[in-house]
Amino acid sequence: MLAGEKSPAEMFLVKLFAVIPALALVAAVPLAWGWGLGWVDVGLAVFFYTFTCLGVTIGFHRYFTHGAFKATRALRIALAVAGSTAMQGPIIGWVADHRRHHAYADREGDPHSPWLFGTSARALAKGFWHAHMGWMFRRELTNAARFAPDLLSDPDIQRVNRWFPALTAATLLAPALAGGLITWSWWGALTAFFWAGLVRVALLHHVTWSVNSICHMIGDRPFTARDKSANFWPLAILSMGESWHNSHHADPTCARHGVRRGQIDISARLIWVFEKLGWATNVRWPRPERLARNLKAQSVNDFAFPQEEMHQSTCSTR
Ligand SMILES: [Zn+2]
Ligand SMILES: [Zn+2]
Repeated sequence: MLAGEKSPAEMFLVKLFAVIPALALVAAVPLAWGWGLGWVDVGLAVFFYTFTCLGVTIGFHRYFTHGAFKATRALRIALAVAGSTAMQGPIIGWVADHRRHHAYADREGDPHSPWLFGTSARALAKGFWHAHMGWMFRRELTNAARFAPDLLSDPDIQRVNRWFPALTAATLLAPALAGGLITWSWWGALTAFFWAGLVRVALLHHVTWSVNSICHMIGDRPFTARDKSANFWPLAILSMGESWHNSHHADPTCARHGVRRGQIDISARLIWVFEKLGWATNVRWPRPERLARNLKAQSVNDFAFPQEEMHQSTCSTR
């Protein structure tokens, strides 16, 4: 299950890249009043947040980890690059960790379950911290040869994996460059670096980590899952559909996580667009029978299935 340990240099980098954006996020609150935050910064932050978030949700998670659809080579590489710009680690390690999470969800072996220390208030506080951030500061390395052999044997993905340091530099410098060029000033470059670089990275870090912590602790559990995964609606928009986490654990390969009527899932909508463009095929849309089987009590009529998806839907491959 594990394959050695992170080196001291890797441990230092993990801490550096987790903590510096987080400090920027804390500093952002007082700085927002009375210090440079212009519409250019806001626009760039929204753009880079959306791009990197979808790279993780559609790319790293639904496509590479779970194979929810098949992609053309160009889309496959684009998704790998986009996900790598979220500063959540190189793609192969990310996917291996997340597959291990599903294999052992909320049991011994899960890299980030909040339930490993017990159920007292103290144990749950410790569990929350561990699931949210603490797990990354452990030295154990998930065995990629066991959990992600498909990615290890793909030269395109190996290359993107090696590019991770360069993509990290790019994701921080691109907003500064854009802000500088749009405002034609060094000050504009600096504020864009702060808001659309550091603060944006930190916000997405904490939203992604909240799916590991909050969405295994608090929320509704309409589906039977073997773990404590839950649907937590307040994060649906910011997580672009990933906080419908109970539905996801009940049927991990499904392309859509927000399967109930009104459950907004921006990632699923974009996968639908990719399918229309012919870039994504064999999309595993939710199937009513399968949902009904996993559902605890509600009627299957509560669930929304666009007509088109009804015809095409196969959660197993078409
Ligand atoms: Zn989970
Ligand atoms: Zn998953």
